[in-house]
Amino acid sequence: MNWISNFKKIGIKVKQILKKQPTGQEETDWKNCPQCKKISYLPDLIANSYICECSFHFDLPPKLRLDSLFDSSYEIIEAPDNDPDPLNFEVTDGTRKGYKYIDKIKKYRQVTGQKTALLSAYGKISDLNAVVVCFNPKFGAGRMGPLEAQYFYESAEFAIKNKVDIWVVVYQSSGIDVHSGVAGLTSGMVKTVIAMNEIKKAGIPTFAVAARAVAGGTYASNFFMHDFIFIEAKCVENMLFSGKKVTANILKSSDAIPEDFGRADGVMKSGLADITLESRKDLKHYITKLAKIILKKEQSKNVEEVHENPEDFKKTASTAS
Ligand SMILES: [Zn+2]
Repeated sequence: MNWISNFKKIGIKVKQILKKQPTGQEETDWKNCPQCKKISYLPDLIANSYICECSFHFDLPPKLRLDSLFDSSYEIIEAPDNDPDPLNFEVTDGTRKGYKYIDKIKKYRQVTGQKTALLSAYGKISDLNAVVVCFNPKFGAGRMGPLEAQYFYESAEFAIKNKVDIWVVVYQSSGIDVHSGVAGLTSGMVKTVIAMNEIKKAGIPTFAVAARAVAGGTYASNFFMHDFIFIEAKCVENMLFSGKKVTANILKSSDAIPEDFGRADGVMKSGLADITLESRKDLKHYITKLAKIILKKEQSKNVEEVHENPEDFKKTASTAS
């Protein structure tokens, strides 16, 4: 034992103490920024839309997201009561204690207060009727299972039935729920694609917001079907089908995976998104601006179409006179 090993031991203890300070209270009072390493007081972060001083964007709980997008009050669209675990999935590997997947779902429900990893709501955004669907990463990393797919589909049906002006989906999703097997793939990908097609057929402008990871089956299905794709901040990453290591393994003989793969700057460079915002605080402004331009254009197009038909023009003229 010499002074160097003693010094190392002290160093480790100091690190442990420093690490311990925010832990335990972190869920309630403190947040450690992964970008600048600053520890922030949670009420201060909440007051700043969960954005650190260095502009790192922490996950924004779906309810706060809806509060920030809608003008005032909004109504939650109720999630369906389908079975969230149709395979009765159970993990048993013999060495470690197994678990039932339904128990995990119960825990997610308890933590988030939500029935599914999605939360959908209906209300007004700058006087435009809107349906907003939010993923919640605290619910199994925002996984898309059969129940989420059904909820997504029913939210789209609600939007069409109520002839809303815009459809917004805020993505924070790890992809299709592997515990649901083929049922998860078919419903998570196919059903959400059908929902998006129906929304498009109804002529409703759609907006995707990448607020965190958009990965796996979510990335490969409904995400790129939107009219506009926003990345809500420069720090957003993991917008990809599979992680860097998996992709590198598949592309063994090809070029190296670029440093910005799946990051906001890389996604923009590849032309896969329309705009990266400086701050999520700007999101409502940009959605409103774009939506009003599109809707106005659609209205004037409709007027032109009426006038293109001479009979219709006569009718309009006689009504006007
Ligand atoms: Zn920071």
